[in-house]
Amino acid sequence: MLIGIPREIKDNEQRVSLQPDGAAELVHHGHEVLVESGAGVGSRFSDEEYAAAGARIVDDVFPADLVVKVKEPVPEEYHRFRDGQQLFTYLHAAADRSLTDFLLERRIDSIAYETVQTPDGRLPLLTPMSEVAGRMAVQAAAHHLESPAGGAGVLMGGVPGTPAAKVTIIGGGVSGTEAAKIAVGMRAIVRVFDTNPARLAYLSDVFDGRLDLVQPNRSRLAAYVADSDVVIGAVLVPGTKAPKLVSREMIAAMRPGSVAVDIAIDQGGCFETSRPTTHSHPTYVTDGVVHYCVANIPGAVARTSTLALTSATLPYLVTVADHGVRGAARTSPVLAKGLTSLGGQLTSEPVAAAHGLPW
Ligand code: NAD
Repeated sequence: MLIGIPREIKDNEQRVSLQPDGAAELVHHGHEVLVESGAGVGSRFSDEEYAAAGARIVDDVFPADLVVKVKEPVPEEYHRFRDGQQLFTYLHAAADRSLTDFLLERRIDSIAYETVQTPDGRLPLLTPMSEVAGRMAVQAAAHHLESPAGGAGVLMGGVPGTPAAKVTIIGGGVSGTEAAKIAVGMRAIVRVFDTNPARLAYLSDVFDGRLDLVQPNRSRLAAYVADSDVVIGAVLVPGTKAPKLVSREMIAAMRPGSVAVDIAIDQGGCFETSRPTTHSHPTYVTDGVVHYCVANIPGAVARTSTLALTSATLPYLVTVADHGVRGAARTSPVLAKGLTSLGGQLTSEPVAAAHGLPW
């Protein structure tokens, strides 16, 4: 199969959908790989590295049978696709009507990374980005606690004789767990709220007593947030918007210069005071609290994010390349879960429901 790797053109997107060793793997499987010149530069992969791996460097990869991307096609890219082309990428089509119309009108056969799902409910192509976002959340919080960044001037772990920062993480799933690891590593005092008792039990085992694990209720949450230097929102209720768990009053009760990081902002955010920010303007202050609500946190560490994403996608990409989107969905129940559109028909019920379309 002829596989195309375009340069991402979405604002501030520096990731690329394949690393050079992935190109070598696809070539080994008998495929031909086209890489758009400069596609890997944002992640520090040169055209020469792709060429050495057996890819062909070109200006236009859209003659390919299968286009592999990181982000969903943006309107400026729609005209580049051919009718009936195959697409493997993050799509988030339920949130984007024009993208959904494009997939249908162009009869694109697509599989969305974010809905590829294993039988035990894991989302293997979303997990790596949640891991990155969780770790980055603490790094961002530590930076924004510093005085020049507008924070309270508190060092995350303190030093002997001073108190360490108190970090409250709401949601102990993939991103919350990674946030907890980094915060504990920085010697902060870390508390994690999760509604799922099994998750709390798991964290209790893994962290061996180094976390305060809390079953949430409203007044408990209010007390913990008020006493925190950093609060991190990391909840997910699959398929719906994030619940607004932290009210404006709870935020206002924090000490001035405290930091609120809302990782769940891509699902609408779980703090009442959250609104999406970008890497160019990552923070704003509300009620004296510095808010970091970047919707695309992994974009700031493009190389790590590319390595994490493409390592996770490659085994699935090999299956899609070997069988085509239609055949891969028949062969692999895990990939079938990600199937979004086929030959001008929607194949994802949540996407159809979001837009009131048949499926
Ligand atoms: P996850 O499913 O692994 O974890 C979510 C956790 O929240 C679960 O353990 C669940 O039990 C818990 N939870 C649900 N409702 C709760 C409540 N009311 N109180 C406390 N805990 C509750 O999800 P994840 O992969 O960690 O993702 C978390 C969020 O981060 C998602 O919205 C995801 O889209 C987002 N995310 C954002 C970025 C970004 O750049 N901003 C990057 C990656 C992921």
